This record gives sequence, C-alpha cells and structure tokens, in this order.
Amino acid sequence: MSKKNKAKANQAKKPTPKAAKPAKKVHNKTAKPSKPAKKPAPKARKAAPAPKKVPARKPARTAAKPAAKPIKAVVVKAAKPATKPEHGARPAVAVKPAPASKAGPATPKSAIPSPQPAALPVPAAPAAASPAPAAPVKVPAKAPSPGRPSSKTSASAEVFVKPEVPPVRREPPGTPGSTVKKGSAIFYDSHMHTPLCKHAWGEPEEYAEQGLRAGLKGIIFTCHCPMPNGFWPTVRMDEAEFDAYVAMVGRATEKYKGRLDVWLGLESEYYPGYEKYIEHLHQRADFHFILGSVHWQAKEYLSKYEGGTIEGFRRTYFNHLADSAESGLYDCLGHPDLVKNYHPDSWCFPILKDHVARCLDRIAATGIAMELNTSGLNKSYAEMNPGNEMLGMMAERKIPIVVGSDAHRAPRVGDHFIRALENLKAAGYKDVSYFEWRQRKVLKLDDVLSSLRKHEAAKAG
Ligand SMILES: [Zn+2]
Ligand SMILES: [Zn+2]
Repeated sequence: MSKKNKAKANQAKKPTPKAAKPAKKVHNKTAKPSKPAKKPAPKARKAAPAPKKVPARKPARTAAKPAAKPIKAVVVKAAKPATKPEHGARPAVAVKPAPASKAGPATPKSAIPSPQPAALPVPAAPAAASPAPAAPVKVPAKAPSPGRPSSKTSASAEVFVKPEVPPVRREPPGTPGSTVKKGSAIFYDSHMHTPLCKHAWGEPEEYAEQGLRAGLKGIIFTCHCPMPNGFWPTVRMDEAEFDAYVAMVGRATEKYKGRLDVWLGLESEYYPGYEKYIEHLHQRADFHFILGSVHWQAKEYLSKYEGGTIEGFRRTYFNHLADSAESGLYDCLGHPDLVKNYHPDSWCFPILKDHVARCLDRIAATGIAMELNTSGLNKSYAEMNPGNEMLGMMAERKIPIVVGSDAHRAPRVGDHFIRALENLKAAGYKDVSYFEWRQRKVLKLDDVLSSLRKHEAAKAG
C-alpha cells in the first residue's frame, strides 16, 4: 500500500476512538511495565523446522471429559441480520438455541442486548475470492501439545477459575473433518464471525454461500470468545451464548455437508491473567481451529498497559503476542500486528523491527502458526496484518501461515485472498496452512493460487 493511501486512510479515519487517546502519550506515571507476569517457559512445541513438515500442535482436545453426545445438527435459528456491518450499530439478533438435546447444557436464549459500538477495528468491504483445484498436504502433527498452559501461565492467572462446565458438542472420535469431495476448491478462509459478537452481520449460511462463490473448500467460524468478569462484553458473545454459537455453526455444517466445509473455530482472547479461563473454554467443544488474539483496543488492556510511551505500548503488544504463543493455548496468532492501528499515523515499523524480531524468535520456537489477515486493508492503518516486512521476517523463521478474511459480513469471506497469497509468495513463503481438528494441514502456495485464479477466471466467463 502506498504511503499515500496509507496516509489517506489514516486521516480518513481516526484511530480507534476510544483506544487512541493520544492525550497521554508519554508521561504518565501509570506506565506499566510491559511485561505482565512471568511467562511460562516456551512450550514444548518444538520449533518448527522444515516448513512443510512442520508439525502441528496436537489437538488439544480436551483432556477433560470425554464427550457427551455429539449434538449435531442444530436447530438454532437466528434472527435476521442487519445488513450494515461495522461497529456501531448492532445487529439485532436473536438466537434461538436449539433445545438442548441430550448432549449439552441447555442453550440459553440469547437476544443480543444493546448496541454498542465496538472498538474492534473492523473492516468493511465486500469482496469475493476465487478458486480451483489442488491437493493438500497433510502435515504431521507436531509434538503433542506439551504445553497446555495451565496454571503456570500467568501471574495473575487466578483471576478466576470457573467451575466445570460440560462440553457442548463432541464429535465421535475419528470423525472426518472434510466432507467435500476432491475438487478444484482446496483452500479455507480461517477467520470470520457471527452476529453473536454484536458487531458482525449475517447468518452462517450467508457466509457459506460466499465461501462457495469465492471458490473455497471451507470456511471456519472464529467468533470472539466469551470472557468472564465483564471483560469488554460489547464485542463478544455472552458466556451463556457459547452453546448457541456451537449450535449455530453446527447447523451450517450440516446444511453444507459435501459442498463446503463449515467448521467450528474460535477467536480466543489473550489477556494476561485469563489463561485458565481460556484453557477451560477450549475444552468445551471440539474445535477445528483456535485463533489467539491480543486486542489492545480493549478498555481493560488500555487501562492496564497504556500510559507509557506510544512506542512502549507497541512493544508491550508484541511481548504479549509472544507470551500468547508460549502459552500453548492457541493454534495461530490472529492479526499479529494489529497494534499498528494504535496511533496509526505514527506507526513506524523500522523502529520496532529489532524488538519484533526478538518476539518472532520466541514465537517461531513454539511452532505456532500466524495469520495473514486481509481485513487490515479496511482499518485505520490500511494494510494487511501483518505488513509485508514483518511477513518476510516470519518467512525467514519458517512460521506457518494461515489466511483469514476476518469477515464480519458475508461478502468479505475470501476477500483479497489472491493478493494475500501473492504477498506471501513475495515474502518467501512456499506453502500455506489451515487447521482441521486443530491439526495443521499444508498446501502448496502455488496450488492454492492457481485454484483461486481459475475460479476467478471461470466466474469472469
Ligand atoms: Zn470483531
Ligand atoms: Zn480480532
């Protein structure tokens, strides 16, 4: 993106409203040390050496309880979505949970409450992608997830520990992930939302339709996870809606069986002190993919870590990114340079480069994947997350890549994927990944590119 556009974008939209309070830039005695707590030693996930065979982390499927019955098809009916995306308005959604069948707890009825502009930078543009044939390479799993974080994770990790809650959807062991026959579509959009997060619009089925139009083999819903203690509640599902979320995605999974894989994932939060809660949450359903994101825009995050210099805040963000990788809780790190939207007009990667390099070394050592998120093009600092320079540094370290649109509206599914793949190629990547049952699968970048290009060409006539 040209500087010009960037600048334009920057001035066009001021940084996140609440987040950016330029006022207190430098001085402020509240400045907190960026490093929250002691971090756990890097997990055993071994560093990933060879790209292609990098192991995926073991699915950490719950060790906890075996499953209760798989609740498959779901009956959750959601209300009609509003058409307007973007934070600020709130889609009025009423999710009707399926009658809790034997498997899980009953799903609470959820009516999304009030509106609220979310501070999450959310993109806004329609788009479509396109695809065609090729075959995925299976990536062997990496070392078992040795490190489930657990207690050692953070100093303040005891903020709360929830009582056991039975898992909601459990798949019978051996359940195949994909139901789609071999065909030209081979790639997955690994990041998108549902109206349950209060700042996304459209039923899962609408996203699925777009996934087909974009030439994808599958889409993975990764809606914002519930959080306890009233942690930034306006941009996520309520804790009581978790089951409804699982059911809502499950409904689409059933509906598109054989045509498009519609999988359950989660955009889980990383915020020091909540590791236990998150760890437990990840055991409540059988996920295909868990994205871990550091959302610096959260009021809680800002009040705790902002206060020093702008540069210091950015460094803290990257430290947290590395901490989240080492927690062993996630499969992939979401939009890993999101902090560039914090005072975007003064973002200067070269100044942070050495610090980012050190953080990437820590991240690479865990074997975790990182996301190339195309929605960054619609944010204050109009560039994908991460930008190309950081992408090159990630490629040098052989950090696996997953691509996500971060769609908060159906038309964005698969958005800018060809461009994203081209960026990856330019950065030195040769392949790209997605997760199935929390195991990483690798595809040749060229195969994915040609599949999407063929699909585009076919659409164009
Ligand atoms: Zn969001
Ligand atoms: Zn996010």
